[in-house]
Amino acid sequence: MTPWSASVITLFPDMFPGPLGFSLAGEALRRGLWQLEAHDLRAFGRGRHRAVDDTPAGGGAGMVLRADVMADAIDAHWPLPDARPRLLLSPRGAPLTQAMVRHWAQGPGLALLCGRFEGVDERVIAARDLVEVSIGDYILSGGEMAALTLLDACVRLLPGVMGAAASGDDESFETGLLEYPHFTRPVDFEGHTIPAVLRSGDHGRIARWRKEQAEAITRARRPDLLARREP
Ligand code: SAH
Repeated sequence: MTPWSASVITLFPDMFPGPLGFSLAGEALRRGLWQLEAHDLRAFGRGRHRAVDDTPAGGGAGMVLRADVMADAIDAHWPLPDARPRLLLSPRGAPLTQAMVRHWAQGPGLALLCGRFEGVDERVIAARDLVEVSIGDYILSGGEMAALTLLDACVRLLPGVMGAAASGDDESFETGLLEYPHFTRPVDFEGHTIPAVLRSGDHGRIARWRKEQAEAITRARRPDLLARREP
């Protein structure tokens, strides 16, 4: 079986695997539990200077990535048929959620296009069926950090990557709630002790306490999550 595989098209291939070369994701990459390729968009640039961008039609600040350059890179590196979703990291995209992450982690992998400058020529998005995905309502200088973020979220869910951890079934967003608070030794930290219930050994009571805490924290911090939750 071919492992989960990510292919990234970027002006900065050296940014990959970057932080994903460390810790569990990095070990999993070395063990072949997932694969990563980063391809240089510059190789498809035009002219002696390998230009990938040009001034925006209609005027305005900044530069726009050329549709023809991006289409050439996509066609060269992501030949069809390819079952992987083709995503464009973009602040205009659907905001990334844990449900999307889980869905993509269960698939064959991802093909990710990283924008730069003011963004990409609109025509290539439709011409190559790119799905726009945002990692949040703020502007990054490029799609690379967004791609790394998305990949990190997916890779940690792949079988074998997280080891003993129960693949995070309890974690924030998996339950539709923010997570309950954690504690570990020492029992006394600057005069604050670990809640007695967690030291009671009563698993039923502990589970109830954690659920109440998770609900209270979610109500206080993210009432929008409660509203969205299934009854
Ligand atoms: N002019 C654009 C921003 C371009 S930022 C606008 O106002 O919408 C340059 C590139 O960074 C984008 O093409 C995209 O690939 C990436 N990027 C920036 N913010 C992002 C976000 N929140 N999520 C995903 N990608 C983002």
